[in-house]
Amino acid sequence: LMHLTKKLIEIRSMLISIDQSDALKLPSIVVIGSQSSGKSSVLEAIVGHEFLPKGNNMVTRRPIELTLIHTPAKPGQAAPVEYGEFPGLGIGRITNFADIQRTLTDLNLAVPSSEAVSNDPIDLRIYSPNVPDLTLIDLPGYVQISSLDQPETLKEQIASLCEKYIREPNIILAVCSADVDLANSPALRASRKVDPLGLRTIGVITKMDLVPPEQGAAILSNNRYPLHLGYVGVVAKAGDKPKRGESTALVARRGERDYFGQHQEVFSASPSMMVGTDTLRRRLMEVLESSMASSLHGITNAVQLELEEATYQFKVQYNDRRISPESYVAETMDMLKLRFQNATEQFKRPIIRAKLKGMLEDKVMDVLEQLYWLDKRAPELGSLAVDPKVTPDTVEPYWKHKLDAASSLLTKSGVGRDSTILVADGLRSLIDSIASGEPFNYHPQAAERLIEFSHMILRDRIGVTSDQVENCIKPFKYDVDVEPREWEAGRERSVEMYEKEVVMCEGKLQDIRKKVGGGRRLGNLIGYVKTLEERQQQKEKEKVARRLEASTGDDGEANIKQTLEVDDSPESYRYPPAQILDARYAMMYSERLHILKLRLAALKSKRCRAGPQSDVFCPEAFLNVVADKLAYTSSLFINIELLEQFFYQFPREIDTRLLYDLDRKEIVEFARENPVIRRHLDLQERKDKLEEVMKQLNSLSTLRADPQPKARRQ
Ligand code: GDP
Repeated sequence: LMHLTKKLIEIRSMLISIDQSDALKLPSIVVIGSQSSGKSSVLEAIVGHEFLPKGNNMVTRRPIELTLIHTPAKPGQAAPVEYGEFPGLGIGRITNFADIQRTLTDLNLAVPSSEAVSNDPIDLRIYSPNVPDLTLIDLPGYVQISSLDQPETLKEQIASLCEKYIREPNIILAVCSADVDLANSPALRASRKVDPLGLRTIGVITKMDLVPPEQGAAILSNNRYPLHLGYVGVVAKAGDKPKRGESTALVARRGERDYFGQHQEVFSASPSMMVGTDTLRRRLMEVLESSMASSLHGITNAVQLELEEATYQFKVQYNDRRISPESYVAETMDMLKLRFQNATEQFKRPIIRAKLKGMLEDKVMDVLEQLYWLDKRAPELGSLAVDPKVTPDTVEPYWKHKLDAASSLLTKSGVGRDSTILVADGLRSLIDSIASGEPFNYHPQAAERLIEFSHMILRDRIGVTSDQVENCIKPFKYDVDVEPREWEAGRERSVEMYEKEVVMCEGKLQDIRKKVGGGRRLGNLIGYVKTLEERQQQKEKEKVARRLEASTGDDGEANIKQTLEVDDSPESYRYPPAQILDARYAMMYSERLHILKLRLAALKSKRCRAGPQSDVFCPEAFLNVVADKLAYTSSLFINIELLEQFFYQFPREIDTRLLYDLDRKEIVEFARENPVIRRHLDLQERKDKLEEVMKQLNSLSTLRADPQPKARRQ
């Protein structure tokens, strides 16, 4: 049957790791008692080592879940090493018990004194051939008087922490000092509240040596406050100084044996009287064992139910599909690369070239507006185009200069930088959209790293690329050779662009017409604005004239006053200012339409169709060809210097920087950042653990059915 406790202790810790619900709890022994009642001394006597925190500054501030695991010595082999382990800390085996004591002290003192106690238990396991299989929970001692630096509520805090632990099915070990009246024992009082019949409470009377043996024996006789499980008397003080090579525990044990030996006649008077640490250990084992045995059936049912539920959920929610954090990481990386791979389609050369062409065409339109449309002489150029008497050789140099200026405005506008940045921005927004989409929205750190290293690659390449592009378009800044075929394409494209522009301007005019309430009204508005403007111009002229007069005449002051007068005639309020603004826009659009139509006619003229020799008359066609050549050359070098490099480096950086050298813990953390995966893993883990527990519980019932004679108790 010793096997049973051992197994159930294992099962108990597994169940605790599955969940904290009371339904899945196997009993443990909870140690309560007031401060200085000798709680630590008793626990250390059971373990056979000094390992608990000492000191008078409330050193137990967290529950200690102490699991003792008996490691049997094998015949013919050296005794197994004794060691402790803190599973929650992951620091491995500790063979020196002074180190265990130090660690426990640190863990306890880490709870700020303002908080005083914490409900978060410390998990400590001790493996030794000298300990029985037991689980004990050491709780902070009940305090009588709290000291000044402790919170007012300390007493209640400790009491409620103890209350939580002494619930069923746990066994209560109530530690009372022999020299204090049992009536005053807070441990017994607390136990009676939850276990009035004393069915699961064992009393431990410490410091038996401090009262006369007869008085001690009277306490143990279990008459005054009867407990079903009885009282055990112990002497657990360290006592004499240990001799060389002796452990304090050994000395204490000898002291106890001596004490009860000396008073044998008193303590063996009744066969039911229990004294000594060894008796206590045995008693605890028996009690725990039978308590566990009686919990076995209930816990098996509870686990079975939980397992069925988890299995059902796993089937319904995940169709029994198993995942692991590693597989999730691998899938995420693959998906990222695939996503990126697909996105590179948008960066194929023809697409890039078309994008750059679009950008350059905008520039062409800007140049045309600046140099031609706003030029008062622009209509002249239209007439020249259809005048057979004027040839490219005889045309005014004005127009030749204009064309040169337009061409260099376009080629020297920073095409290298602008086109590189256009493509780099495209890459950046691609990465940004990947980083902000599923599943990277769950992994902010990975997303940040992704953005960081892709921006780094881009930063590295932008300078080189834009210099390279700028360098390669240099020839176009001086001379552009245009083939007839290219010319025709440029001309056609210019016609298209102008037609689009015409449609746009007409649309805008239409909108304004609708807005102000019809064409007639807009006509009136425009007429009004024109007279306003004329009047304004007239006034300006007069002002200038007057100012000239004033500077020569003598009654200057009156004139200056007049000059400053504002136009406050009621007429200026005839239309709301917003409509006047609309009228001005309408005027601008119709002027633009006028020039666009003139230019369209020119572009469609015989002269323009003739070929590149007509460039002076048709700057649009020429500039369009230049834009096309710039786009072609830029896309070529951007492809080599920026895109190819980026597409080569990016997947490699994913491998080396994103999730590459994560350790197991980081992989798990990463996977669990994704709530979908976290839920999946949680359920899967719960199911696995429950299955394992169930397997072990089943093997126990076959063990129990084994008709072998009961193993001798220790
Ligand atoms: P805790 O605060 O309940 O953990 O109490 P301790 O185990 O630290 O003991 C409080 C004090 O009582 C210490 O000074 C111990 O040496 C002493 N003490 C513990 N057990 C005995 C005992 O059986 N006999 C005597 N005389 N002193 C004891």
